[in-house]
Amino acid sequence: MPQPLPLPRAELGFFPTPLHPLTRLREKLAHDGSSPSLFIKRDDQSGVAMGGNKVRKLEFLIGQAEAEGCDTIVTAGAQQSNHCRQTAAAAAMSGMECHLVLGGAAPDEARGNLLLDELFGATIHWAGAHRKGEDLPNIVEDLKRRGRKPCLVPYGGSSAVGASGFVAAMGELADQVRMGAGPMPSHIVFASSSGGTHAGMVVGAELHGITARIHGISIDKEEHGGLPYRDWLTGLTNETAALHGLERRYMPTDFILDERFLGGGYGVVGELEREAIALLARCEGILVDPVYSGRVFGALVAMIRAGEFSPEDTVLFWHTGGAPAIFAYAQELAGL
Ligand SMILES: *Cc1c(COP(=O)(O)O)cnc(C)c1O
Repeated sequence: MPQPLPLPRAELGFFPTPLHPLTRLREKLAHDGSSPSLFIKRDDQSGVAMGGNKVRKLEFLIGQAEAEGCDTIVTAGAQQSNHCRQTAAAAAMSGMECHLVLGGAAPDEARGNLLLDELFGATIHWAGAHRKGEDLPNIVEDLKRRGRKPCLVPYGGSSAVGASGFVAAMGELADQVRMGAGPMPSHIVFASSSGGTHAGMVVGAELHGITARIHGISIDKEEHGGLPYRDWLTGLTNETAALHGLERRYMPTDFILDERFLGGGYGVVGELEREAIALLARCEGILVDPVYSGRVFGALVAMIRAGEFSPEDTVLFWHTGGAPAIFAYAQELAGL
């Protein structure tokens, strides 16, 4: 099998993240019907700035920025972007300036991830309707004129270099399975939004012998990079595969991308998310967020209740983080 290429990598997070069973949750779900065996991969404990999946991508993105001699990181996201919060912290850890281009307008009071962006010393540029980094090129040019050496980190950290974090994560999971921390899952369920996590998992599974079905729950129905998300994901996966010396080329139909749980759209909290957040908190003492991991956990519970897995399956819920956003959604989560 071809070996992944050595890419420059900054050591930012704490890896491997824990892998453990969700025993009480399984008992509870089995009581109401049947349940597969349930495990969780704790990327909410990845170490940087309250954790999350972006730390894996940032190890490679910051590694590349350092190799290129950059002194400033520029990236973009929504006002409650977990990616921006983790990037701001990673830049602080690496001694770089950080500029964030956030959708919307400055709120009266900074909460959740935005409050943390400010604590990490990031400069915030408000971009109105441009939540996906449309303004990045202008800001990069402006920084260059001011004598900085900016490095662009793409929206969500989702380039082939960023996705390499999840190629490595599949190697980490394969090692944990080999060492007996858990069985080889038959399914991995996680949030798929800007594509780096999904692309990296698919390529990493191929390279590291992970046989699970990679089941991405779609979070955002809008187009990405001017393409329907599935096509964007296919392109990103092929770029990631090429970067890692994998000859296989993927087709849009090769991906499990579940679009049944989009609800009211990106960041709109419904009953699915509310119930899921309360269930995992009360059953296992684990926090999921209202935008990504809560939606995915709600989807997983709905799929178990609908009998979409057999009791012999082992389902790994890959917790991608996001808990700081809870503090910006107090109203939506009230009264649970
Ligand atoms: C960014 C993010 C995701 C989605 O990962 P992508 O690689 O962008 O698809 C999932 N969960 C959380 C908490 C995130 O912040």
